[in-house]
Amino acid sequence: MRKETRLNGIPVVSGWGAGSAYFVGRAVQQTSTVSISRQDIGDEIMRFNEIREMARKDYRQYISELSSNTSIDTSILNIYEHILDDPAFIGQVVETVTTKLYDLETSIRVVSNEFIKRFDAAGTAYFKERSSDMVEVCEKLISFLHRDDGRMKTFLEPVVLVVLRTFTPTDILSYDKSKIEAVVTTSGGKTSHAAILARSYSIPVVSGIPNLTDHIRPGDQVLVDAEKGHVFVRPTATVRSRYKRLASDAAAFERLKTKWRRPVYTHDGIQIDVLANISLPEDADEARECGADGIGLVRTEYLLSNRKEMPSEQIQYKYYRSILEKANKKPCVIRLMDIGGDKIPKFFDMPFEFNPFMGWRAIRIFLEQRDLFETQVAAIIRAGEKHDYAIMIPMVTTLQEWLDAKAVIASVAAKLSMKMPRCGVLFEVPLAILEMETFMKEIDFASIGTNDLIQYLSAADRNNAKVNYLYNPVEPAFIRIVRNAIKCANDNGMPLSICGEMAGNWMHTALLVGLGLRRFSVIPRTIPIIKEIIANISSAKAAESVSHIDAISGTPEAQWLANLNRRLLGDVLERLPVEVEV
Ligand code: PEP
Ligand code: MG
Repeated sequence: MRKETRLNGIPVVSGWGAGSAYFVGRAVQQTSTVSISRQDIGDEIMRFNEIREMARKDYRQYISELSSNTSIDTSILNIYEHILDDPAFIGQVVETVTTKLYDLETSIRVVSNEFIKRFDAAGTAYFKERSSDMVEVCEKLISFLHRDDGRMKTFLEPVVLVVLRTFTPTDILSYDKSKIEAVVTTSGGKTSHAAILARSYSIPVVSGIPNLTDHIRPGDQVLVDAEKGHVFVRPTATVRSRYKRLASDAAAFERLKTKWRRPVYTHDGIQIDVLANISLPEDADEARECGADGIGLVRTEYLLSNRKEMPSEQIQYKYYRSILEKANKKPCVIRLMDIGGDKIPKFFDMPFEFNPFMGWRAIRIFLEQRDLFETQVAAIIRAGEKHDYAIMIPMVTTLQEWLDAKAVIASVAAKLSMKMPRCGVLFEVPLAILEMETFMKEIDFASIGTNDLIQYLSAADRNNAKVNYLYNPVEPAFIRIVRNAIKCANDNGMPLSICGEMAGNWMHTALLVGLGLRRFSVIPRTIPIIKEIIANISSAKAAESVSHIDAISGTPEAQWLANLNRRLLGDVLERLPVEVEV
């Protein structure tokens, strides 16, 4: 029995799974050249036309299967049809068959490799994607040459797909997804088309592992932890039992999910809303399953990823309507697109900025690019007609900016002869949150975006690991700002949530309830955990405990936070089915 091997890769789609290794795809590189005689030329060219037609049918079939899934932009598959019809590609394959007298497979590989080399040489992310599109089409054509009928393949047992070349959408689409536990691959990033598809089917993916065949053999047991990017080949009993612990945690988590599909009250009877942060319509399904009391943040930028142009009002309308229908009459806060910073759509002509997070972003862009702003607002208002929805504006700095934005929303609503929606501010810029009181008369609700707020207050980039030690949600000065904001909202009877990651960290739940927070907005799978904690807290005791917060300066926060949680929760946190180290 060979020993366990642990391979380290990049987590591309999170989750974990285990199964036996199933190898997919040979490398596209030509290994041997097969020649033909002159009289075979006609047959090879006819066969080329046949397999192109078969491939085209296959892609159309995928597109029609996926068209019911509104979150997947099927235009990512249209590109393959373009390649199949590309005169340069067809011409070069035919020329290679006729002049070099190579068989069809050799000719397709030679020509594809030429294209791939040119795309790779360009070096940009765009051409890298084109290069993997070429791999996809080449492999698809060759699979038909090998009399692969292109039908969906099923497995008898759970498998881990081991993809030996660039990971492409067909790798997911041509197999029975219910049996694919995870994917391990040599290359392919988080935003590759294949990763987007895998994510939509909740299939964990770890990428970036070279020489996979040196470590894994077909049929080997493989355990993939795509939270951390670890791949265990032939895992030892210890690792397997830790994995079982994850599985039993998963069972306990399922029980919590069922338990918390109802409102939660603190031990002393205060109702607390726990809403979901989502990006896709599918996330709204997960939110419902996890017991969300509504949706507190829809990050609409997702609508822009992989698009070559700004989605029309109709496309946006369908997307919002689908989310609102899934929200099933519960409140839903749709945030206007937060373009800029690290989220720059391909089609957007963003001028160079030295400091993009401090630059032209979100409302700052919208107030200048009115057509973008008005299109999104019109789509949301139309979609929201029969639903409980509200609009939230990110990156507001001054009251004047907010008043200008609200005037645009009012004019769009008036043009559509529809009701002005409820509108609120995402407080994530220090100037705005420090001036919250002045916003109170002008807004319908508030939310605190701790992710950006912390980075702007601490001058520590949220994406920079080097300065991560400064990026601290429980820094006493930060807690005081949050406390004052919550108090300001509560004193004014203003609904306020926290939708930054701080609210989703269960170490902070008791603290936030003590500070007076009554609405959390977190990623869906955290909801049952947060609700379970809330049910165990006495809000009065929590408020009393945090009233001494000013005295904690100087105490290491890990220590006072642990003490606070121990005092308010006993051993509740230890008993939760939350992730364990593998
Ligand atoms: C935030 O900044 O806390 C927030 C919710 O917005 P995002 O993470 O999308 O910037
Ligand atoms: Mg933000």
